[in-house]
Amino acid sequence: MREIKLFIDGEFCDAADGATYASINPANGLAVATVAEGGAEDVRRACVAAQQAFEGDWGAMTSAERSDILAGAADLIEARAEEFAQLETLDVGKPITESTAIDVPAAVGYLRWYASVTDAAVGETIDIPNPGQVDFSLWEPYGVVGGIAPWNFPLFLGMLKIGPALATGNSIVFKPASITPQSASVVCECFAEAGLPAGALNVITGPGRVVGETLVTDPRVQMVSFTGSTDVGRRIIEMSAQNITNLSLELGGKSPNIIFEDADFDQAVAGAVFGLLLNNGQNCIAGTRLLVQRGIYDDVCSGVAEKLDALVVGDPMDPQTQLGAIVSEEQFEKVIGYIGWGEEEGATVAAGGAVPDDPELADGWFVRPTLLTGCTNAMSVSCDEVFGPVLVAIPFEDEAEALAIANDTPYGLGSGVFTTDADRARRMARALQSGTVYVNTFNQVYPQSPFPGWKQSGTGVERGMRGLFTYMRYKNVIQDISGEPIGWF
Ligand code: NAD
Repeated sequence: MREIKLFIDGEFCDAADGATYASINPANGLAVATVAEGGAEDVRRACVAAQQAFEGDWGAMTSAERSDILAGAADLIEARAEEFAQLETLDVGKPITESTAIDVPAAVGYLRWYASVTDAAVGETIDIPNPGQVDFSLWEPYGVVGGIAPWNFPLFLGMLKIGPALATGNSIVFKPASITPQSASVVCECFAEAGLPAGALNVITGPGRVVGETLVTDPRVQMVSFTGSTDVGRRIIEMSAQNITNLSLELGGKSPNIIFEDADFDQAVAGAVFGLLLNNGQNCIAGTRLLVQRGIYDDVCSGVAEKLDALVVGDPMDPQTQLGAIVSEEQFEKVIGYIGWGEEEGATVAAGGAVPDDPELADGWFVRPTLLTGCTNAMSVSCDEVFGPVLVAIPFEDEAEALAIANDTPYGLGSGVFTTDADRARRMARALQSGTVYVNTFNQVYPQSPFPGWKQSGTGVERGMRGLFTYMRYKNVIQDISGEPIGWF
């Protein structure tokens, strides 16, 4: 069984108190790794190492040197792509085809992009009404960044913390989700081999309450980038008050995916299915509320149900499998619970709704992809983030009603619109209250594209060039060039 250690100051090590826990394969309930359970002392040691790296070798490097290291690490991750794909599948339960085709190439692609923008910190000269002085601005790294990631895309989302933090010259203490710790450890090997100075990247595995909270409140940590649930995001905002720590928060979602009668039917049905099911619905931006114009509601629901019923749910390591396991027993119980509550509140199960009947899957946490029809936006399954393969279908009459339903949520991460009317597409894109709007597509991400969360889906902007500046702080400099003494007498 693989042993996952902490990575502090360039060395793999045990937790200070020697504690460990098991990482479980959700496809069969068996342990796949023994993981060091970091504690407060380990986090503090990592923060000290990160501070020293920032003030030492790492902080002294040029943007070109940083670029070489990031690009080198991307090559090394790519060279071990098969191993990374297996680790993601063993930890998360996602199909090996998805880990291989999406998670690993996306992580490598993003890291390569971050390697290409290490010199993006371009400031401004500012026109001031004094010819004897100049005013200019600088973008500088924070110093020590704390990165905290969820379990749904461990490698990819880890790279979205480590990549921009290092590209901009910060050092980072990174905490992967406790249940998906494996890939971050191998990432450390790749960065070390690529020449990253000790202490610039530290990884602490362990429980959020201890590792996460110690990290957020450590006085050396100047900025925290957190991706996870809205509830934990709220807790992080509270904790950030202690040291007035800068925060970037990417939180939960309950995205509407809106299909108008004028949509291309096949494109819309495919968009509804893919919008829901990337990573088995365990995706922050998943289009989990399917809003369908009444005239095509029954046809769209039948089309979606047919596609869901045809999907192969199975062993995530089998290349034939299209949908794997739910990440944990806790998450599985939550998903099953919401399907039941949906039925109690009057929804009809039009597809799925149960665990698969294959006895070989009995020891894992599997759920058939589920479509609930006859839903209203007020049902708990329509309001809450279920984070699983559960789609609620809600009918609407016209554009105004579609917008009212779509925006009637505390979340604001993403929205989808399927229509062939370009004017309607633009109107909807402007009126939808979410950081991302997809038109006639869904779940697309590119390194260059920002990914802001509105409302309770987050603060700030991550990803893309705008997101890169989230990892830097702004400084203004006023310099006298007149040689005249300053003063008023
Ligand atoms: P979570 O909030 O439970 O955990 C996220 C991370 O925070 C984990 O590493 C966890 O150990 C840590 N954590 C837990 N309690 C903590 C605390 N008190 N202090 C500091 N850290 C703590 O989320 P999850 O269940 O791992 O992931 C699912 C959630 O993530 C969903 O809500 C999903 O929408 C969200 N998510 C958002 C985005 C986005 O870009 N907006 C992307 C992926 C996932």
